[in-house]
Amino acid sequence: MISNKTPKTLRLLLGDQLNINHHWFKTIDSSVTYVLMEVQSETNYADHHIQKVLGFFGAMRHFANQLQQLNHQVIYIKLNDANNAQRFDANCAQLIAMHSFEKFEYQLPDEYRVDEHLKQFTQTLTIPFSVVDTEHFYSTRLELKNLFEGKKMYLMETFYRYMRKKHHVLMDADDKPLFGQWNFDHENRQKLPKAHKPIAPLLFNNNLSDIEQELKQAGIKTIGRVDSPNFLWPITREQSLELLQFFMQECLPLFGTFQDAMAPNEWSMYHSRLSFSLNIKLITPHEVVEKAIAAYHQNPEKITYNQLEGFVRQIIGWREYMRGIYWLKMPEYANLNYLEHTAKLPDWYWTGNTKMNCLKQTIQQSLNYAYAHHIQRLMVTGNFALLAGVHPNEVDAWYLGIYIDALEWVEITNTRGMSQFADGGIVGTKPYVSSATYMHKMSSYCTGCYYDKAKKVGHKACPFNSLYWNFYDRHEAKLAGNPRIGMMYNVWRRMDANDKAELLQQANIYLTNINDL
Ligand SMILES: Cc1cc2nc3c(=O)[nH]c(=O)nc-3n(C[C@H](O)[C@H](O)[C@H](O)COP(=O)(O)OP(=O)(O)OC[C@H]3O[C@@H](n4cnc5c(N)ncnc54)[C@H](O)[C@@H]3O)c2cc1C
Ligand code: SF4
Repeated sequence: MISNKTPKTLRLLLGDQLNINHHWFKTIDSSVTYVLMEVQSETNYADHHIQKVLGFFGAMRHFANQLQQLNHQVIYIKLNDANNAQRFDANCAQLIAMHSFEKFEYQLPDEYRVDEHLKQFTQTLTIPFSVVDTEHFYSTRLELKNLFEGKKMYLMETFYRYMRKKHHVLMDADDKPLFGQWNFDHENRQKLPKAHKPIAPLLFNNNLSDIEQELKQAGIKTIGRVDSPNFLWPITREQSLELLQFFMQECLPLFGTFQDAMAPNEWSMYHSRLSFSLNIKLITPHEVVEKAIAAYHQNPEKITYNQLEGFVRQIIGWREYMRGIYWLKMPEYANLNYLEHTAKLPDWYWTGNTKMNCLKQTIQQSLNYAYAHHIQRLMVTGNFALLAGVHPNEVDAWYLGIYIDALEWVEITNTRGMSQFADGGIVGTKPYVSSATYMHKMSSYCTGCYYDKAKKVGHKACPFNSLYWNFYDRHEAKLAGNPRIGMMYNVWRRMDANDKAELLQQANIYLTNINDL
């Protein structure tokens, strides 16, 4: 006789799989037990920011409580629990043996490292197992791969248009983009006017001091600062929805306009700071996009279309695109170093103690809040590391540790790809480098800096200026043929030979004394 009874099942939930609307939770089944665990294999694979570790553990503990209140059976393994084997596989194996589970299930991990770990674990099992989707993203892991099958270029713009059409987002009845255009960026990206004070960020005050204590007890190495009794990031779905609502009302009206602007002591501007909530799946990209479109329709005078389109592109364009590239190119991607960079990351990346105001502000802000917005990551810290020829492994390790939203699938594609051009142009069509001219155009960092933004060589010359030309000179063989930067090589080739020599000499002095800048 065939029994209809569900086998006694263990379901593993990872710390970035906190999607309460997943179909798993629709029915209460006494034969199913969920397990969440705090393990050192996760706390120790990088030197993480203290706020990142607290944010993950705080959100996991809340989520486990929520499941229990809904009458699901939950096992929660804390970091310092006596039987914690500190790895997913060993803990699951222990539980399966101890409780005689008859089936093991898990959701698709977003990170290659964890995916491989769980695949290997399931090969050792003597009970049946299965894996299900996380029901979070718009696209599947392999959708981008299939879209670009046989193509040499993987343009984000092509993917973005495909996503807009497929999901009918910002499209008219004839399947054409609203207002006849896909991209409205030319109306965005202004510098912050001097007298303009951006909106103060919405902050939470979660008390996570117990978890901080437990991390200390366990001797977990972290970086950065935290006020753990007043932890400011959202750690529940309710808080994430509150932040989402705050963004729609207060920030979206100026999101695109000041998307690339930077100013001292303004760490959040009009950015959403939703990446942490999104990446651990407290909220979905669908609801973020739907809320943004609804906010625009409710208030078209306040929220212009260019703000909306710019924001939607980040979510269904860039975020999904990066994930697609990750699953297309891993594991090779993690070893790419197209420009053959070998330098070490300057020591002050870990302290912010540098005289360069743009870097000081961005790094200190990152240490204080575990956050920097996209242009700070790309055009300040990323730009400098690229100009300084830092090995992409060092750059990746820093980004993977310092930001609260850093998970490899979205960190490595942005860092190694977009920011460091280590993939030779898979993600970006050119390296994102700039001299002080761009920094001054988009920020007010240069005012009050020890260095002089207008000077290229000599005492107090801004390091970005000589390092910029040094970068192009060093990589001429690989980059001169790139149509997007050919113009810079024309300028470089026409430059007076003495000026060129002086620039290269200045760059050399700076690179030799990089820890003193
Ligand atoms: C070197 C570098 C490293 C980065 N590392 C990460 C990372 O580890 N984790 C991470 O989530 N993002 C990363 N990004 C992308 C982006 O900087 C962050 O998503 C963004 O700054 C998060 O802040 P926010 O939520 O306020 O974003 P907003 O500016 O408000 O944008 C809205 C949302 O769009 C999405 N988004 C925007 N740009 C990107 C992008 N380039 N790639 C993927 N999603 C994007 C994010 O989900 C973000 O929450 C990195 C970018 C660079 C240049
Ligand atoms: S002068 Fe140079 S180092 Fe100083 S803030 Fe401007 S770009 Fe940065």
